[in-house]
Amino acid sequence: MHHFTYRDGRLHAEDVDVTTLADAVGTPFYCYSTATLERHYNLFAKAVGAPKSRVFFAMKANSNLAVLQTLARLGAGADTVSEGEIRKAMAAGIPADAIVFSGVGKADQELAHAVDVGLHQVNIETEGELHALSRIAAAKGRRQDAVFRINPDIGAGGHAKITTGSDANKFGISLSEAERLYTVAANLPGIRMMGLAVHIGSQIRVLDELQAAFTRLRALTERLGGQGHRVERLDLGGGLGIPYEMEEAVDHGPDLIHAYAEMVTRTFAGLDVELAFEPGRLIVGNAGILVTRALTLNPRAAKTILVVDAAMNDLIRPAMYDAFHDIWPVVAPAQGAGTQLYDVVGPICESGDTFATGRTLPEAQPGDLVALMTAGAYGAVMSSTYNSRLLVPEVMVRGAEWAVVRPRPSFEDLIGLDRVPAWLAPRS
Ligand SMILES: *Cc1c(COP(=O)(O)O)cnc(C)c1O
Repeated sequence: MHHFTYRDGRLHAEDVDVTTLADAVGTPFYCYSTATLERHYNLFAKAVGAPKSRVFFAMKANSNLAVLQTLARLGAGADTVSEGEIRKAMAAGIPADAIVFSGVGKADQELAHAVDVGLHQVNIETEGELHALSRIAAAKGRRQDAVFRINPDIGAGGHAKITTGSDANKFGISLSEAERLYTVAANLPGIRMMGLAVHIGSQIRVLDELQAAFTRLRALTERLGGQGHRVERLDLGGGLGIPYEMEEAVDHGPDLIHAYAEMVTRTFAGLDVELAFEPGRLIVGNAGILVTRALTLNPRAAKTILVVDAAMNDLIRPAMYDAFHDIWPVVAPAQGAGTQLYDVVGPICESGDTFATGRTLPEAQPGDLVALMTAGAYGAVMSSTYNSRLLVPEVMVRGAEWAVVRPRPSFEDLIGLDRVPAWLAPRS
């Protein structure tokens, strides 16, 4: 469920007319709904039993400070994957002891920063990283809480590029290595091994693989416990999916969240551990849209190509993951207005710069506004300046209020990022 609805035929974000935002901010821009963020966070946190269980928002899905602060006020911690994310989470007011540091490869400097600020937990993915963290923390006279990210050899997710739990993927420590490494870790200085983590993929909407992975995690927890190791924390990662096709008018969110929470309770029943969760997409996906304006039409025999002013550099999910985004007109078509078959594309000279192919939409004219729905997760965070296009701005709405939460940079900002070497400077 989300808070983008038509009122008198005009798309609103909560109580704010999206056309008003487009006039004020210019297009393209992202628009986030506070009410949707809060609803999804609260639903999830309650279902999994927070604050007894801990929820760390996977901020790689959306790291805007306003989004982070909105969630932090509700009690969210942060799951981070870089020093930049750690610093940004702390800048948003999330305390270090509510921050988890995940990721396949961490630079020594990043591990040192994690230890310096005293993060809640580092999720270790390799034996090399275990030794690096131990060395770095011990040299500082510190002990860093850590867990092993286990690769349960069960992958899942909406696309091959977002499946992470299979043995063929680059992520985590294999089950067969886990016990040996836990013993190694238990004898290392600078580290306090607290437990295990898994994260098997993203956009997961059928729970079977998650349950199978959690079952393996439980079995490993019990084996480790039998060997006298302490396993106090299990970090169950993120990955729960959301509906992208808005035709699914029914509200699937609560059903999936409750089924997931129930499955987790069942799978870990009787185990004395603290559970942690790292949802990303589930919290922010439906809370954001990308608003864009039609530039021109290119009629072909079978369909019309609709060129809009947003492009793959602003929202890369269709190009990268073959992702589907529903496309809504910002001004609803009049009763009985016609529809047409469209390819909706951006202006970049790449065939991949295509948001939708063969989509039936209300007839569009140059200048019309359309919204790419469900763009709050892995949208703005993956944007770039490819084609020397300005980074797309972000707006947040709360009831009838709105604010620009990341302004569009200027062309001077963009050009000023580069430096010209002395040998190219004009000779005097
Ligand atoms: C990406 C990621 C998440 C969040 O995944 P979602 O599908 O957005 O919920 C959580 N944990 C880890 C380790 C991740 O890499």
